[in-house]
Amino acid sequence: MTGVLASPYLASLNDAQRSAVEHGIVSGSANAGGPLLVIAGAGSGKTNTLAHRVAHLIVHGVDPARLLLLTFSRRAAAEMERRAQRLVASATKLEGQRPLAWSGTFHAIGARLLRMFATSIGLDPGFTIHDREDSADLMNMVRHDLSLSDKSERFPLKATCLAIYSRAVNAAEPLDEVLRKQFPWCASWENDLRMLFDAYVEAKQAQHVLDYDDLLLYWGELMKVPELARDVGARFDHVLVDEYQDTNPLQAAILRALKPDGAGLTVVGDDAQAIYGFRAATVRNILDFPGQFPSPARIVTLEQNYRSTQPILTASNAVIGLARERFTKNLRSDRTAGEKPCLMTVEDDAAQAECVVAAILENREDGMSLKEQAVLFRTSHHSALLEIELTRRKVSFVKFGGLKFIEAAHVKDMLAVLRWAENLADRVTGFRVLQLLEGVGPSTAGKVLDRMASHSPLDALALFPSPAKAAQSWTELVSLVSGLHRAVTPWPAEFDRVRQWYRPHLERRYADAVVRAGDLDQLQRIAALYPSRQAFLTDLTLDPPSASSDEAGSPRLDEDYLILSTIHSAKGQEWKSVFVLNVVDGCIPSDMATGSVEDIEEERRLLYVAMTRAKTRLWLMVPQRFYVQQQMRKGDRHLYAARTRFIPADITGHFERKSWPAPRSSLSPLQNTVARVDLQERLRGMWRRTGS
Ligand code: ATP
Ligand code: MG
Repeated sequence: MTGVLASPYLASLNDAQRSAVEHGIVSGSANAGGPLLVIAGAGSGKTNTLAHRVAHLIVHGVDPARLLLLTFSRRAAAEMERRAQRLVASATKLEGQRPLAWSGTFHAIGARLLRMFATSIGLDPGFTIHDREDSADLMNMVRHDLSLSDKSERFPLKATCLAIYSRAVNAAEPLDEVLRKQFPWCASWENDLRMLFDAYVEAKQAQHVLDYDDLLLYWGELMKVPELARDVGARFDHVLVDEYQDTNPLQAAILRALKPDGAGLTVVGDDAQAIYGFRAATVRNILDFPGQFPSPARIVTLEQNYRSTQPILTASNAVIGLARERFTKNLRSDRTAGEKPCLMTVEDDAAQAECVVAAILENREDGMSLKEQAVLFRTSHHSALLEIELTRRKVSFVKFGGLKFIEAAHVKDMLAVLRWAENLADRVTGFRVLQLLEGVGPSTAGKVLDRMASHSPLDALALFPSPAKAAQSWTELVSLVSGLHRAVTPWPAEFDRVRQWYRPHLERRYADAVVRAGDLDQLQRIAALYPSRQAFLTDLTLDPPSASSDEAGSPRLDEDYLILSTIHSAKGQEWKSVFVLNVVDGCIPSDMATGSVEDIEEERRLLYVAMTRAKTRLWLMVPQRFYVQQQMRKGDRHLYAARTRFIPADITGHFERKSWPAPRSSLSPLQNTVARVDLQERLRGMWRRTGS
């Protein structure tokens, strides 16, 4: 691409954005330049700037294969690549450029590098990856083997053990400190936990499996070996990271090891949008970034918001303005006209669902497609009633975040067969597959796996005296797994083989087998997009596709559909119209998160992230009652709710206050308002905890 230096795309950028795009690119050559930090509020064009920088580097001769682009999701990486390619094409008039070979999440890139370097670091290159649920299951197996589950005083459950382990790894903190700070009620188990984690690590190694945390941990360790670090670092001229505020100390260490002098390193983010503290991400990464290199990083701040109208921005600024600490400044928008965001009071969560659907359909009547609208919520199950209402009214939707369809039992069954064939040493997976057979329970499965560990595994499987009920299906399983293991059938035809085998088991195990078969059709379509079984399994485990609703039928790509998303999964995105559900204390902030000041502050930022997704119209829904499923005590019940504490009375002036259905004419609006406010005041204390 030499000789083509026209950069027409730069004209659309403001001065600050342009200076970030051009940083280190002098007179037609893309020198790496020193470290660069772009730190600015939501919608200021950080991601846009990064995409332009990628394009600008390519136009100035950097080989796309030597760029490493790290994003929050695979979807975000694909979107960034698409934008960059369009820009490059517009400047060079060349279509079909080479793809960015290295773009994706930290975890996905880690997995790929570890496979490449496996033999140098004593790792089996055929390792398989455990998702959180598999990891918890393995932790449980180990916990059981060590008889920790038999303790008279109750030992922490598998999920807690995994959370402690994961925190220690990602925060790069010693166990005693993690226990003291995050899990004080488990502190007395420190020695047992240490023993458990030790055995867990051994089990993973023996079975050639890595968990999510290992992908970063091993990558981090690899980067501590000077020759390997040089080798990996030298593959990339530029490393660019979006959403840097949500990285953890391990990820920061990896970046430093990739580019010790910071040359060619660009990170962008917004400290006011840090929402992954619960996964050990720390806002210190972005705040400390400038001082971490021999020469300080250049800092570019952006001041203009291009996304939202000024009324939406003003209300969002008011919410984040109450935060205890913040580095990024308020933004301004040129879109001064527009309606104030609406605080919509509804009676309960059923009314909330009806109200939101009615408003969405009204927007559509006004010419706003469903795709331009999104409904956001704190926790995946908050959308349950809405999903029912959407289905009833035949509105297509796609849901992001929360339970993925690959977490459904039948999808996991299919994946388990494929994964076991890939790695016969993986006990969690083998355990699942074997128990799909009729008459095979945990004890038989355990014995089979023990035999497989000490002999040639496929022979051990074939020779195992199968339970009478399973005789026929045992032979079929042996034949299937051996065939898959030896890759007799090419991919993706292999997938079909597994489906044929699985069909009778699906029908026997699940009453709604027909519905579930639809999910498997979808999985099969996804499988066909991958060049190999390994690539399919890795990607699906690391960044599963979004769940699309069964009830509404999975929308085809050309069809219009509404987006439902957890706030966490809505990061970086924008829609014309945004509805946020349950903007009440107990939901935002979540009653699970009211423990510490940091937790509360993270919830405040979460509301800020939700609000700043909206371009033109923003509705915050405030149901006065909502239904909760009781986890500890039996029976569900309604709880009375109060508007979130993050919108106290003195900033409500930035919002339009409405209720739905609109007050009947016989009742004056004033009477109605007084009654509502009184109720809220009285109930607000219910959710308050001392010290929060
Ligand atoms: P977030 O913090 O939410 O991730 P961001 O800072 O990454 O936001 P972008 O998503 O890059 O912001 O941009 C927000 C919107 O503003 C997008 O629609 C983008 O196309 C638009 N935009 C960014 N820069 C400009 C510009 N210079 N001129 C016009 N529109 C712009
Ligand atoms: Mg962004």
